[in-house]
Amino acid sequence: MRILLVEDDQMIGEATAIALRDAAHAVDWVKEGKSAREALASGEHQVLLLDLGLPGMDGLELLKFLRRSGNDIPVIVLTARDSLEERIDGLDAGADDYLVKPFEMKELLARLRAISRRKGGQGAPLLGNGIISLDPATRQARRGEEVHLLSAREFSLLHALLLRPGAILTRAELEERIYGWNEEVESNAIDFLIHGVRRKLGTDAIRNIRGAGWMVPAS
Ligand code: CA
Repeated sequence: MRILLVEDDQMIGEATAIALRDAAHAVDWVKEGKSAREALASGEHQVLLLDLGLPGMDGLELLKFLRRSGNDIPVIVLTARDSLEERIDGLDAGADDYLVKPFEMKELLARLRAISRRKGGQGAPLLGNGIISLDPATRQARRGEEVHLLSAREFSLLHALLLRPGAILTRAELEERIYGWNEEVESNAIDFLIHGVRRKLGTDAIRNIRGAGWMVPAS
């Protein structure tokens, strides 16, 4: 998933961004509420990880602004220990979940998987189209009896497609899901990833719709 991380603490921000990237997420990190508001206007992100104590526009203010303006991006707030009021305010302002700092990265990743399932309308922990299934917890893809471990980016690509089997995603849409702002994207990067997934799961696992983009068939 493409995640916007809003955290003004350098150490927490860095550790969180690294853990998320290691887990195959694309991460954009900003340190202020105002920059977050600008970043969110692009609609590129699937989840917002929001620290509440920020310089300038604080996290709660940003969250209220988003919900008032009809932005329904899933939000996990990051709050300080012993601040029950902050957690309650966050949830009341429209957060979907919260984590108390310092948190374990494993727990953050599990909560992201849960949010991704709810957002995709799929309650089950596996994503699939009846032909291929994908386990976000292990990054393993299965077809029939065969199980393959996907690379981080192959996983991101297949995950984006499997959230909506039958829907076509363009090259730009796929790039947006897989890469963060500061990452160089080679012009043939998507073709390369698709080739990698097909090599593991079969040529027909991902269909090319000429001139439009790619999809996984809805079974
Ligand atoms: Ca802070």
